[in-house]
Amino acid sequence: MESFRGADRDRLANVPAAPGLYVHIPFCVSRCDYCAFATWEGMEDRVESYMDAVISELRAKRSEDRSVVPGSIYFGGGTPSFIPARHIARVVEEAGTQAGTEVTVECNPESTDIEKLRIYMDAGVNRISLGLQSFSPQILKSLGRSHDPGDIFPVIEAIGEVGFDNYSIDLIYGAAGESEAILEDTLCKVLSLSPAPVHVSAYALTVEAGTPLAKDTSRYPDEDYQASAYKLIDEMLLDAGMRWYEVSNWAKPGYYSRHNWNYWMQGEYVGLGCAAHSHLGSRRSWNVFNMGRYISFVRDGKDPVAGHEDITGELEISEALELLLRTSLGVPTESLADTEQIELLYADSNGIATLTLEGRLLANQVAMRLDPSKADPACITHLQRQAPWPME
Ligand code: SF4
Repeated sequence: MESFRGADRDRLANVPAAPGLYVHIPFCVSRCDYCAFATWEGMEDRVESYMDAVISELRAKRSEDRSVVPGSIYFGGGTPSFIPARHIARVVEEAGTQAGTEVTVECNPESTDIEKLRIYMDAGVNRISLGLQSFSPQILKSLGRSHDPGDIFPVIEAIGEVGFDNYSIDLIYGAAGESEAILEDTLCKVLSLSPAPVHVSAYALTVEAGTPLAKDTSRYPDEDYQASAYKLIDEMLLDAGMRWYEVSNWAKPGYYSRHNWNYWMQGEYVGLGCAAHSHLGSRRSWNVFNMGRYISFVRDGKDPVAGHEDITGELEISEALELLLRTSLGVPTESLADTEQIELLYADSNGIATLTLEGRLLANQVAMRLDPSKADPACITHLQRQAPWPME
């Protein structure tokens, strides 16, 4: 197994001196209609053996130097809040934290309560990411979500009572039946929560092959509507004092996700669990997708990695540009292959071009026309050392 100690940390001044740690929790109450993630329902009897395997994988990956603690820890899934909170605490304790380590747990309203939040807080968790998706019962039904809008209120109250000042809300826009009025109502309710979220992630609904949504063309999202919905989201979040820092992410000053920022800056990370990805040095690898295979591999002392690729040379620069383009940092103007793109980007006097609001709607098309051969690697590295906004 690759060591948990990263090989390339001094390249990144804006992230802590160790890779991020991602922990995949592949259990959910039920399967949402649009979801293609590695997650399963009705597998609660495997939680113990799965989490034992995660701990074993963590120990194996950091056996060389136990003094290295992760720069950030992120529990994603799946639904981390669905499993007993002691498993989350156990991983945090085993991984270790230091001052400033961001520790996030993704939670869903129907499986989060004050007892779990207290255990998270005591364990060192300092950030909650809450999968709300919408305040509309009709939209939640259309997405196949298992919670009701009202489930969120006791969770927000508990977040306030336990004292998490850093929490984020996840939204999905573009589900069948959604209108700007419905979306605006959701945003108004999100922004009037108390305590208020300091971060919002808003994702356009996408159709993933093999999902129930993919089989039902009547529920496919309308791209024109999604474009106007995105503008509405951006306007309302900006009015509430948030700033965009990645195409799908907005935050109040100081509250961007350090863990995700590390991904977008091509930082290093270690992924634990089935289907989890790692990036150490120039190598990206991924674990076996199937939960049962993952548990067996680790139990037998085998490396659960299913494959890898090396990200070097032009591929590394090309990927760096695509990632930077989607952030508030932007890309060096010399990497723009043609001038048509300029209409979708704001070019400043320092030779950096950032997506405009219209540009963010067409980020994928702009990315296809970036020219990595024209980009100065030193300029890219300089950008990757930055936080999302000045003074952060
Ligand atoms: S809760 Fe999240 S991970 Fe679980 S099925 Fe729904 S979308 Fe997928």
